[in-house]
Amino acid sequence: MLANKTALVTGSTSGIGLGIAKALARQGANIVLNGFGDSEGPQAEIAAMSVQVAYHGADMSKPAEIEDMMKFAASRFGKVDILVNNAGIQHVARVEDFPVERWDAVIAINLSSAFHATRLALPAMRAANWGRIINVASVHGLVASAEKSAYVAAKHGVVGLTKVTALENATTGVTCNAICPGWVLTPLVQKQVDAKAAALGLSNEDAKKQLLGEKEPSMQFTTPEELGELAVFFCSPAGANVRGVAWNMDGGWVAQ
Ligand code: NAD
Repeated sequence: MLANKTALVTGSTSGIGLGIAKALARQGANIVLNGFGDSEGPQAEIAAMSVQVAYHGADMSKPAEIEDMMKFAASRFGKVDILVNNAGIQHVARVEDFPVERWDAVIAINLSSAFHATRLALPAMRAANWGRIINVASVHGLVASAEKSAYVAAKHGVVGLTKVTALENATTGVTCNAICPGWVLTPLVQKQVDAKAAALGLSNEDAKKQLLGEKEPSMQFTTPEELGELAVFFCSPAGANVRGVAWNMDGGWVAQ
């Protein structure tokens, strides 16, 4: 379905981004990966799906590096047809204790990077009259949790950016939507499980159960594979007039 399309997924060396990149590759899209840590393993996994894959290690907190990444993708594949703004970090602390440097980093990586990548991707998408921008927000783009001020502010911002981008392109073939996962067991969340286990003297399994029990009625983690299939739907012909939604996949978290 996505043969001859190119998808750039930020923060795709692990977790949800890698899951989405693999789901799009399975549909035939060429993939530009981004993120820190090991990139060789993820590149090999995608290349095994008989699509082309490239990697750019831009730090998503740095606009000049984002610009360089977008130019790299265009020079390698012609243009970016599908942009998945996924890179994100978390920091947990009460507002009065929140390190200023961490606030700035969360806003830069989780919110401003989506603005920069989007503004740089739009001209070519508009020229082709086809494009898909998918912002990985969170249930925290819709509701709040204590001790996550920067993350909740950034993710609410991402949902707002999604709506504006969708509206500004509503008469074109370019759509923009957000995905709002509940708990997904990635390195980002494992750190929170570890902190809970240490603070309460719990085993890893009991800490996971407690984490889920506080927020997610299904008592199940959402998976990167499920989120990947939602991204595929947004890219499908049936998704052509889905514009500006913030679609939660959260085991009932925000239904409460
Ligand atoms: P993860 O830690 O597994 O992956 C994050 C990715 O972003 C990695 O590839 C990492 O290298 C990359 N990254 C981090 N800082 C970066 C930077 N400055 N520049 C470039 N890349 C950078 O986390 P994840 O859970 O897969 O999170 C992916 C997205 O999903 C994030 O936006 C997160 O907020 C969101 N999300 C996660 C959950 C969850 O439960 N895990 C829930 C809702 C939303």
